[in-house]
Amino acid sequence: MVKALPPEFYAPFLSDLAKERKPSPIRGLYPLEARPGVISLLAGKPNATTFPLTSVTLTSRSPIDPTHEITTKVHGQALADGLQYGPTAGLPALCEWVYGLQEREHGRKKGEGWRVSIGAGSQDVIFKAVMAMVNTGDSVLVECPVYAGVLPMFQSLHCDLIEVETDSQGIRSSSLRSILENWPELKPKPKVLYTVPYGCNPTGMTATLDRRQEVLALAREHNFIILEDDPYYYLYYGDSPRHPSYFALELEQPEVGRVLRFDSLSKILSSGIRIGFACGPEPLLAAIDMHTAVANLQTPSLTQTLTFALLDAWGYAGFAAHTAAVSSFYRAKRDVFAGALRRHLTGLAEWTDPEAGMFFWFKLLLGSDDGNGEEGDSESIIRTKAYERGVLALPGTVFLPRGGKTAYVRAAFSLLDEDQVEEAVKRLKETILEARQS
Ligand code: PMP
Repeated sequence: MVKALPPEFYAPFLSDLAKERKPSPIRGLYPLEARPGVISLLAGKPNATTFPLTSVTLTSRSPIDPTHEITTKVHGQALADGLQYGPTAGLPALCEWVYGLQEREHGRKKGEGWRVSIGAGSQDVIFKAVMAMVNTGDSVLVECPVYAGVLPMFQSLHCDLIEVETDSQGIRSSSLRSILENWPELKPKPKVLYTVPYGCNPTGMTATLDRRQEVLALAREHNFIILEDDPYYYLYYGDSPRHPSYFALELEQPEVGRVLRFDSLSKILSSGIRIGFACGPEPLLAAIDMHTAVANLQTPSLTQTLTFALLDAWGYAGFAAHTAAVSSFYRAKRDVFAGALRRHLTGLAEWTDPEAGMFFWFKLLLGSDDGNGEEGDSESIIRTKAYERGVLALPGTVFLPRGGKTAYVRAAFSLLDEDQVEEAVKRLKETILEARQS
């Protein structure tokens, strides 16, 4: 039997904003409508009979046999639910699908110390989680380099961003330990750690099992919550089986409840469909939902309905076949990019081939030590010189929580075909050679 941390455990983890939020006076009463026999005069829901859509037909490639198409018609009650306001936490059918998925993938059973909330992409629920947990000026632990998309969230709260080092094995638990063990006595300890454990954006690195276990142990020892942002979980190219997620691994702890996990359907179904989900302890999810109830009422019902219709038509086996196919597709792209890097940038850059995700993170070897032992700066070379040669990549500086210089560059390999990769990497080579001469 799984033991979950009690609801009162989370009070210190909630931000002042979350604590002060009042439940939406109308949305908070929605569940009461469900009691049989109740006649509801509650919400100003439009009468669905006035909505003109009568049916939506989805046609998808069969994940099991891509030469076949699967046609799914969404109509009747399913469409009516998709056209109407729905529960703040998400369309019940889609939430149930997520419960089933998380049990299959992470061994987490519904009702055992966690629940789900659907967002408009994972970014939506990550933002709301940060607002639910972090106060202005708080210290927060972030891996370094870090997904640039979360930095503005912490920066606008004037957070003290504590950089946890990473390397080819993902987040360095020894760096985390040293930060926490040397934490100033009078300064409040960080309540959250943000990390991307698979195919990290930007480094492409995947945290090893040992690192994950150590980070979890530290979360328990130093009392913080792990924000596990895992949109690249399904894009794994390794030959050995995938490491368990933090969400799965915490089942080995004496109690669960220190992981708030974020999944995204963006990289595997569609990024425009805007579906992601947060899974974790009820009090944190409740705070996220209260934000949603104020900010946008809910994630669009229709997108959730269509997503569920597709996933339901495929079944979990179909979803697994689909994610496996998507991951082989990107694995081939990774291999092409790795080949071009080896051919053109050996001796001019350093990198580790990513085992997951969509990014190569490489260090330009500019051969120009600035005298302070610093490794160089990719900023102007990539932003200006490489662009002038017709190649656009991201200088590593944008991923540094506290700013500074870096010789690293992020290159996304998800879209290019072989010829484009060859040309892009050649252009990078010429740029580096030119920079070395100047
Ligand atoms: N986290 C990370 C690490 C990402 O790379 C992205 C997308 N670039 C997101 C979150 C946001 O994804 P979504 O489309 O699900 O909002």
